[in-house]
Amino acid sequence: MKVAGQIPEGEPFLPHPGIAVGVAPQVAVSFKQCRSALNRSGIPGMDYCLNPYSGCAHGCLYCYASFMRRFLNVEQRWGSFVQVKNNFPERLAAELRRPKHGRVMLASVTDAYQPVEKRFGLTRSCLELLTRSELEVGILTKSDLVVRDLDLLARLPNVRVGFTLTVADDGLARLLEPGAPPPSRRLAAMAALARAGVRTWAFIAPVIPGLGDTAENLGSLLRAAKAAGAREVHFDPLNFYPTAVANLERVFSRHFPRRLGAWHAACRNPAAYRKRLARVIAELYSTFGSPIGRGDKTPPRYPCP
Ligand code: SF4
Repeated sequence: MKVAGQIPEGEPFLPHPGIAVGVAPQVAVSFKQCRSALNRSGIPGMDYCLNPYSGCAHGCLYCYASFMRRFLNVEQRWGSFVQVKNNFPERLAAELRRPKHGRVMLASVTDAYQPVEKRFGLTRSCLELLTRSELEVGILTKSDLVVRDLDLLARLPNVRVGFTLTVADDGLARLLEPGAPPPSRRLAAMAALARAGVRTWAFIAPVIPGLGDTAENLGSLLRAAKAAGAREVHFDPLNFYPTAVANLERVFSRHFPRRLGAWHAACRNPAAYRKRLARVIAELYSTFGSPIGRGDKTPPRYPCP
């Protein structure tokens, strides 16, 4: 299988304006070969994961997948580079020649529908191959680009597509997730998939103390997800990863100085923040009715929220 439209290594690449609204960051795209595609997953409930790209142009300030830079031997800022694994579909095709069973997640350490996917189509190629396998597919994304693949999703009997929602407000999301489509577009995509019969869910994560953990924000996200057809909603608290803390500290100082107190209190005592959050979530469920079966009790943890 050939990957079309390659950009010469090192050439700056501006994400497609229709996909990455907000401050479209300049992203350097490079290409590499991978040795394997289908890797064992450490995520509970997932047997395998597929990551056709390394790096992620969504550039979320709270991202803790940025630790991957160490393994990739990259010094660039997380969010400013993407490596395209040219031979990923060929590797997957070879690995699927021996029947595989279980559940596979697309993707786990980056977003499989980040802007470069529009041009290179590795995720779509993987889905095509998976339609001929026995594997159950799970997708978690921040992008409405997934709607492009509705024809393939319709052929995957047990597919589940999750959309991450961090905050309800598009402007605030642009600050926190500068390269990702805004939450309003994610919700519209969720509604489109749900209307077409695809099982969808919402991952409200990470819930940022002082910004996203108000009953108002969580309530409007819960209502919006339900209205868009989410059959389940899962919440996940913030991971106080050092880079995420440093990035968010800058956001609070510059844009929300009055909320610095709440932010610092949570940084000092993450356990208390998580406890308080669990109470807020429980109240929301009892107020709005729960569209979920289990996520409030055992929230999943994904490296890529
Ligand atoms: S949180 Fe996920 S979508 Fe955001 S930059 Fe990290 S890997 Fe990409």
